[in-house]
Amino acid sequence: EPPESPQHVENLFPSLPSLHIGHPEVHLRNGIMNASLMAHDGEPDAEKAFFVADLSQVYMQHQRWVSSLPEITPYYAVKCNPDPYVLRLLAALGAGFDCASNGEISQVLGIGGVHPSRIIFANPCKANSFIRNAGKMGVDAMTFDNIDELYKVARTHSRAKLVIRILTDDTKSLCQLGLKYGAPLVTVPALLAKAKELNLDVIGVSFHVGSGCYDPSVYSDAIARARSAFDMGKDAGFSFSLLDVGGGFEDSTFEQAASVLTNAINEHFPDRRNIKMIAEPGRFYVSKAFSLAANIIARRAPFPDSTEVAIGTSQPSVMYYINDGVYGAFNCILFDHQVVHPYVLSMNGSFHVPSSEPMSTCSVWGPTCDSIDCVCPKIELPMGLRVGDWLGFDNMGAYTVCAASQFNGFEVSKVVYTLGGSVVAAEVQSKLAAFAVEAHRF
Ligand code: PLP
Repeated sequence: EPPESPQHVENLFPSLPSLHIGHPEVHLRNGIMNASLMAHDGEPDAEKAFFVADLSQVYMQHQRWVSSLPEITPYYAVKCNPDPYVLRLLAALGAGFDCASNGEISQVLGIGGVHPSRIIFANPCKANSFIRNAGKMGVDAMTFDNIDELYKVARTHSRAKLVIRILTDDTKSLCQLGLKYGAPLVTVPALLAKAKELNLDVIGVSFHVGSGCYDPSVYSDAIARARSAFDMGKDAGFSFSLLDVGGGFEDSTFEQAASVLTNAINEHFPDRRNIKMIAEPGRFYVSKAFSLAANIIARRAPFPDSTEVAIGTSQPSVMYYINDGVYGAFNCILFDHQVVHPYVLSMNGSFHVPSSEPMSTCSVWGPTCDSIDCVCPKIELPMGLRVGDWLGFDNMGAYTVCAASQFNGFEVSKVVYTLGGSVVAAEVQSKLAAFAVEAHRF
């Protein structure tokens, strides 16, 4: 059945790709239709994999944020997905930005309309030149967790507003960041004393419970530790005014995490009139917003010993090769410990897969010549899949396209943008339009 034709909207940001309206599924199907037309015309690479980004999902996540954590301003973690439309929409919605490098700071300031005070340089271990440049760009808020960082800041950006990043329990998270960052509480008094001695201004405390936190109860302990760090700040002669609760928020447990956090804040910071609260959410905002369509470019039977990756008795009987892999969008499998779940977008030229279609156990591989490039070691997919058919992958917005490489000469998959097919599309469009005017004036 033919997909509805996508509607374009006025190009609000001429340097960026076009925006459309319509449900992401329409755009996935439309992309596949276009690919088959291009293939018919002999266009090289007609079957390229592509993302569909639904900006209304980002908007709806922001509404969830504001309704559950109204006192905490989100500073979106740019590293998670520095997509230009995502950044513009979040800027339009009043979010701040957590930047990890000068490159990210330049990208955020480059969109126009974002004052440097809306940025926190949330990387506790920075190069001297990065600290100096952040100062030149007007970014003062930055984290630290060690003495050397204080000497560097004193030398290169003495007006900085420093935030001490403390170590908290991150054992309940997919990616444990405490292995690398965070000052244990016992070290905090000495760090603060050194900051005082160097005449530096420490304005508050940050932590990160780890990315992809599946047990929201850890936020409670983290807030208790932040309270101790605030008290240590007072003892050292500082008057802290910033509490940064970091990232780690997951879509499925968000409301629960928000409630744990709110209760802990009420308990440990009952009087917070002079405290600004921020967070650094990444994946919560973008994970659901991006889907990927990938084309089956090759198919073969496994050799007996290449089925070692399979577990159990039913070994994969087919190996499918698709045109994006772990060196591209699926780097999230290696770096972000994700398991992805393909579904059939089109089979044998049709968007309809009959429910009677028998399934077979198969494996799905990326396009590079490296055998680590395995997307799914074992999965059930319809038996009739062939070269030229398309697979879809949802929840591909976090830690995917941002770390994709061009290993083996494969291009990073491009993004098609939609404002969504739901009632919020018009709201998203008007927020972006208002921001386009503001950014122009800035
Ligand atoms: N803040 C910092 C300092 C981080 O390192 C990260 C992720 O690595 C984030 C925020 C975002 O975390 P998440 O995507 O889990 O919300």
